Amino acid sequence: MVIDASDVRRRYGETLALDGVSFSVAEGEIFSLIGPNGAGKTTLIRALFGTTDAEGEISVFGRPPTEVDRGRVGLLPQEFTPADRLTARELLAYYAGLYDDARDPDAVLADVGLTDSAETHYENLSGGQKRRACVGSTLVNDPDLLVLDEPTTGIDPTGRRELWRLIEGLANDGTTVLLTTHYMDEAEELADRVGLLADGELVALGSPTALIDRYGGDSRVVIEADDDRAAEDALVAAGYGPIDAGRHVSVPADAAEISSIVECLADAGIAYEGLAWRQPSLDDAYAVLAGTDASGTTKAADGPGPTAPETAVSGGRR
Ligand code: ADP
Repeated sequence: MVIDASDVRRRYGETLALDGVSFSVAEGEIFSLIGPNGAGKTTLIRALFGTTDAEGEISVFGRPPTEVDRGRVGLLPQEFTPADRLTARELLAYYAGLYDDARDPDAVLADVGLTDSAETHYENLSGGQKRRACVGSTLVNDPDLLVLDEPTTGIDPTGRRELWRLIEGLANDGTTVLLTTHYMDEAEELADRVGLLADGELVALGSPTALIDRYGGDSRVVIEADDDRAAEDALVAAGYGPIDAGRHVSVPADAAEISSIVECLADAGIAYEGLAWRQPSLDDAYAVLAGTDASGTTKAADGPGPTAPETAVSGGRR
């Protein structure tokens, strides 16, 4: 295991920031920590890398946090902002200069797709290029473990995808990646496993697919009907349900049931502008587990714990 943490605890005065967290990360794995603000993600990362004390057992590459060979780790903190007036190449050369045995900055520029922007000042790079340059600065020491704290916050969708491909490529080449994110699509797309922290506890741990299967609820047909009430009545009369009358009417349905729902609506003369089949996502699982969606909007007043995954979104069918 690259990271092994057992029963990690950290208290700040009255606040229990980490309340007995145990997990491990295997070599070459992309492990994503998710959870609401204040859940303890940053404290956990700091505990793992020895920048804050914590109780419990932690080993990184088989060593206690303060004894880990820094050359094997690349850490990109959330608030990292390099000097604007450096070019991309100068930036990487600066960070390479901090290590005895660093990679050639031009090779790192090529890895992060910035060869053509080598002479561009950091301030003139696009949002996505900036973040790739920042990731590049963590790659100069050729780390075996890359720790990225919210690497794509504040960059546009194209930039995010560029960064995802970069992270995937690094993991495919054997780099272990620990990343925190507020974006559930990012964790779902990238992570081999996800750990959800809430109030200092790891309340769920597993592959995105496993968490979605267990907590995400049913796949649903969502209907943008002209008359929601009429659509609802027609579906209930045909035995579908329970109906979720959110922004649009929706019913639990397998892929095989889509055509019969379409028929049922046609038979009842229901007009609709759109009809979609929606499979549950990590966002749905997160909403159940954390009681909010990833943007922090409360969905359930007292979200059930991991032992009680079923919510109103799951239910019977005809
Ligand atoms: P996250 O990164 O998930 O947003 P943090 O690890 O930053 O969460 O914070 C976890 C909890 O610990 C929060 O309640 C936060 O207020 C508290 N905390 C974090 N750092 C400190 C600190 N240096 N002093 C006091 N409380 C802190």
